Amino acid sequence: MMKRLSFLEKAQWLPSEKLHSIRDQSLRELVKVAYDEVPFYRELMDKASVKPADIHKAADLGQLPIVTKPMLRHAFPDRVIRSTGKKVYASRSSGSTGVNFTVLVDHETEGLFQASFLLALEWAGWSMGEPHLQTGMTVKRDFPRRMKDALLNCHYVPAHDLSDSHLDQCLHILERYSLRHLWGYPGSLYYLARRAVECGWNRPMRSIVTWGDTLYSHYRNTIEEAFKTRVVDTYGCSEGMNISAQCGVGSSYHLHTLDVIVEYLDDSGVPVSPCESGNIIVTRLHPGPMPLIRYKVGDVGIAGETRMCACGRGYDVMQSIQGRETDIVLTPSGNRLIVHFFTGVLEHFEEIDSFQVIQENLDSIVLRIVPAGEFSIATRRRIVDALKEKGADLNIELELVQEMPLPPSGKRRFIISHLARPHDAHFPTLET
Ligand SMILES: [Zn+2]
Repeated sequence: MMKRLSFLEKAQWLPSEKLHSIRDQSLRELVKVAYDEVPFYRELMDKASVKPADIHKAADLGQLPIVTKPMLRHAFPDRVIRSTGKKVYASRSSGSTGVNFTVLVDHETEGLFQASFLLALEWAGWSMGEPHLQTGMTVKRDFPRRMKDALLNCHYVPAHDLSDSHLDQCLHILERYSLRHLWGYPGSLYYLARRAVECGWNRPMRSIVTWGDTLYSHYRNTIEEAFKTRVVDTYGCSEGMNISAQCGVGSSYHLHTLDVIVEYLDDSGVPVSPCESGNIIVTRLHPGPMPLIRYKVGDVGIAGETRMCACGRGYDVMQSIQGRETDIVLTPSGNRLIVHFFTGVLEHFEEIDSFQVIQENLDSIVLRIVPAGEFSIATRRRIVDALKEKGADLNIELELVQEMPLPPSGKRRFIISHLARPHDAHFPTLET
């Protein structure tokens, strides 16, 4: 991991052509290994009449079919894994889809992604070994995690408890150990920031890094205001890949160009234009025990027109990530309402403390609201009218609650969609 990190520290400044050439070499090796050793990919490629020699560079990936979670689950484990000669273990997660999914990983592959993550932490302003506070859900620290905590000098605190008393404890730890670096889920850091402002707590941080959830703009504003430094957001997926991260200079995300290739496709599998949002399709350049080629992770993002960032790093950029597919409300007219649609309207209502949108069917949503005080019938009407005026062409039912229920994962979601999404079926996969 450390060797890889020193390599990346230099490689990030290489010109993009050079980085692409290294990346494409990895891609050729990946495709060959997958074809030779993994029946699942060999069958897919044979059906598509594609040979490893046909794939020279990232742009050639379009010849291969999209791979979805159901396809991999169906073929798991025998047809999707290969032997790396190393100890493997299962990484199981439900992501945000609620569908359990298992990926086999080994320490080598994981170490490569950890190195990229450490690189992103360095971008944020952290240096190896500097003490920091991390909020997270893995409260039970097993041996490897304890090793990691010790190596990186991590004070780990649970993120599922966001009560004032727990937040006060977190602020106390920051103070007691003079910590200047704060990392974790955007939602938990947001509430910590709110508490810090409430208490008049005022110690500037040197780095703030977020991951694992959507960093809404009001989260970012509150965190940056409370801790007086810029939030560097990172983007990864529950399959253990770190995909991109902000560098603290521009607002775009740098793709970890030597670890992954990202494509942005519409629901028919056609690449979208750089400014349109598209389904994120990831190819992991390290084959590991379970190669992932053109894997549909279930997120939506925008490539953006700029290929370079002002920081001068040669890594490709991604303009933005628009959250999980479940973070989108679909309307009968075919419109998609992202979370910023709702925050953009509802942040103007002082009567709302927090909200959550639940979609059970295509015609309607339930807007769950924790009121901030008086909540009249006229207010209800104004909210519904404002949403409809902006384009929410469906029935909107308001439900007032005292407290927003937190799901077992502890990750708060603004939009919960129970719609069966037809996206997978629209992809030109070879799934039968
Ligand atoms: Zn940059």
